[in-house]
Amino acid sequence: MTPNQPRVRVRVPAKVNVQLSVGPARPDGFHDLANVFLAVGLYDEITATPAETLRITCEGPDAGQVPLDHTNLAARAALTLAARHHIPPAVHLHITKDIPVAGGMAGGSADGAGALLACDRLWGLNSPRAELLDICAELGSDVPFSLLGGAALGTGRGEHLTPLPVGAPFSWVFAVADGGLSTPKVFQEFDRLTAGTPVPPPTANPALLTALSTGDPTALAATLTHSNDLQPAALTLRPSLTATLAAGTEAGALAALISGSGPTTAFLAKSPEAAADLAQALLTSGTCRTARVATSPAEGATVVEHTAEG
Ligand code: ATP
Repeated sequence: MTPNQPRVRVRVPAKVNVQLSVGPARPDGFHDLANVFLAVGLYDEITATPAETLRITCEGPDAGQVPLDHTNLAARAALTLAARHHIPPAVHLHITKDIPVAGGMAGGSADGAGALLACDRLWGLNSPRAELLDICAELGSDVPFSLLGGAALGTGRGEHLTPLPVGAPFSWVFAVADGGLSTPKVFQEFDRLTAGTPVPPPTANPALLTALSTGDPTALAATLTHSNDLQPAALTLRPSLTATLAAGTEAGALAALISGSGPTTAFLAKSPEAAADLAQALLTSGTCRTARVATSPAEGATVVEHTAEG
């Protein structure tokens, strides 16, 4: 990176699914979902600078687990945008990774949305948001929400989004586990566990949506007990998470659940102070690798620096 190069830096949040209602498997193998997304204040940053050819680099504690080839969602975003506009994908994308990798917090999707916005601005395309959301949906089910942020109900595979009102900030602790869980494997386990029993169509819980809109953590907690249909599958694949959930509950969490397909566990707290105490208790319990405090909702992908050629 030379100092007088143009550069665009974008910040993108992680997500937690406060509800993940999974319908029966469709003929294409995907499941229809009713997915209540909440963006949380743990962020990756993507910095785009001009380069001869597409190049990805990554830094952060889990950087070693991030693919640096064209399977990286950030690379796919740059390639897709460049192809649409018939321009070369001549960009260096540097990812500063703070979202746990393969943790059920949509870190890869965040990088896809962030890279898309960063390239769009670096290349002076300034595409309308609807067009960017369209490309996000091509990249993956969770990518549109990473661009949008806030809170939203996702239907279809999760990519059709309806923004949701949130009355007040919620405080969370995320307990990060050692190693990741593969989202497709968790869905396969869901299929195995539900084989032979009818799976009802996915529905969003109206009480949960009301609790979000009033910003009442106790009311929200009351709706979270069985809100993640992937939780039994994630727990079968990673039984040790039961101890993490129990440790958070014993330490006073209002609610404890698996984040998305796991293995990150999410704990709702009644205040930022309670969240800090809860994080400390989870760390001391020895049932997780690390515990992170965050609030929600968080803004979607945002340009935090745009430097023109100097
Ligand atoms: P989700 O919550 O959307 O199911 P996740 O948080 O469980 O996703 P990710 O961190 O998105 O999981 O990564 C899943 C896999 O995607 C990784 O194991 C990795 O091989 C691949 N991947 C592709 N691009 C990225 C990226 N930019 N960051 C992390 N992983 C990536």
